[in-house]
Amino acid sequence: MKTVKLATDHNLCSSCGVCKSICPKGSITYHRSNGVYLPTIDNITCISCGLCAEVCPGLKHKYEPYQTASETITGSVIKCHNAWSLDAGLRHVSASGGVVSTITKKLLESGKYDVVFTLDTYDYRDQLQVKPYSAVEYLQDWNQSSTPKSRYLPVSHENTIQYLKEHRDARTIVIGTPCGLRGVQATMDKLRIEKDQHLFIGLFCDKVFNYNVIQYFNDIYSPDIPIEALHFKNKESGGWPGDMKFFPKNEEPFYRPLSDRAKAKSYFMPERCLYCVDKLNVCADISVGDNYTGQNESELGSNSVIIRTQKGIAAWKTAENCLEFRRIDISAIQMAQAIDRRLENLYFGDLHSVEYSHADLNPGIPREKSADEYCSAWKQALRKLQAGAVYCSDPIILKKQIKCDNKKPNPLIRFIKRGVRWIKQHIIKL
Ligand SMILES: Cc1cc2nc3c(=O)[nH]c(=O)nc-3n(C[C@H](O)[C@H](O)[C@H](O)COP(=O)(O)OP(=O)(O)OC[C@H]3O[C@@H](n4cnc5c(N)ncnc54)[C@H](O)[C@@H]3O)c2cc1C
Repeated sequence: MKTVKLATDHNLCSSCGVCKSICPKGSITYHRSNGVYLPTIDNITCISCGLCAEVCPGLKHKYEPYQTASETITGSVIKCHNAWSLDAGLRHVSASGGVVSTITKKLLESGKYDVVFTLDTYDYRDQLQVKPYSAVEYLQDWNQSSTPKSRYLPVSHENTIQYLKEHRDARTIVIGTPCGLRGVQATMDKLRIEKDQHLFIGLFCDKVFNYNVIQYFNDIYSPDIPIEALHFKNKESGGWPGDMKFFPKNEEPFYRPLSDRAKAKSYFMPERCLYCVDKLNVCADISVGDNYTGQNESELGSNSVIIRTQKGIAAWKTAENCLEFRRIDISAIQMAQAIDRRLENLYFGDLHSVEYSHADLNPGIPREKSADEYCSAWKQALRKLQAGAVYCSDPIILKKQIKCDNKKPNPLIRFIKRGVRWIKQHIIKL
């Protein structure tokens, strides 16, 4: 019987925590390895029931097929908006327009949902875990603002499942990245927990970092003082999207440019993100991301929102009088989020499946190209990830890799390559 070991052996784990929560024997624990938290199975107590592999979103991201690949990874759409919260205080502390926090607040206030699973820390020294907040707790914490903002790291949803097992009648709001929501939904299906009474708010997701990035930032910005917390983007510096804000122990916080974060991305990433094409979070009732459409933007940040289900429509209606919003077309979001570029990951996933002879990682998506042409890009991406994975034990490898990536090619070789290209285009054609 397959277990979640298949995911860890093939670098497909997204650290979502659901395997641990469904294991009937409590045989799964999480340990940090190469900057990611991975499940380990106790072989003595494991009964090989296979439940952990069945709910694992790392082993499969299934899609409802549409005619084209772009449509399939866009998913169902009822309507789309660009929007932001009318609560100015919230907008200062939220990731973008504060739409996720506003919808959550209004739904809890109205009594339509009882609990939200969300995060309450910016300290990344341990694995991030979502926590259940009742309406009273969430509204009490509102002014302290420990829940908004994006954590660009893998988050465990183990507590969500534990809670749902014990409170089958609760009506909850689950916020998550695509792999998080897929893991939670698959586990609910397996445990026969009704999904209709729960709202799934999906965050658009390009990729997450691995936890080694925190050590890397610590080493380059504050080598002598440990960093205790980090805002991946903070509007206090430079408006939206804002710079990174670091909180060193017993010292004044400081800011560093967002561009430094972007530079680290391709090194510090769990390998699973390389095979994921679900940027727009197709399993959600409402998907929310940053507004890069060039329409209805605002200095303090705004969101693009895709409402996908009737449940999503009802949630939106409850919150809309607290939001400024304009209707937009899905094509504007597809273009702004460059979802076609994301299809590269589809072919990376195919190459991974062939190399390790396992099933399709993205079933349901029509293929429009051959994976072979992506082979060298895939190998290059893996080399970068390897350097980031071993960073804490061997920082030299990463430094060498960065140097190698930024090396300017020899001018003579460049000249010869250009000549060969010219000959191919002009002479061979004749
Ligand atoms: C890993 C990651 C990658 C992203 N990539 C993109 C992208 O490529 N393009 C894009 O447009 N948008 C992306 N987003 C979404 C974007 O950063 C904002 O989260 C989104 O626009 C919502 O903004 P907001 O102001 O409404 O959120 P807020 O009102 O600040 O609320 C955010 C909510 O999400 C919760 N949360 C934060 N991080 C996580 C997490 N990792 N898992 C579960 N819950 C979390 C918070 O606790 C809070 O409740 C990404 C988000 C994440 C977490």
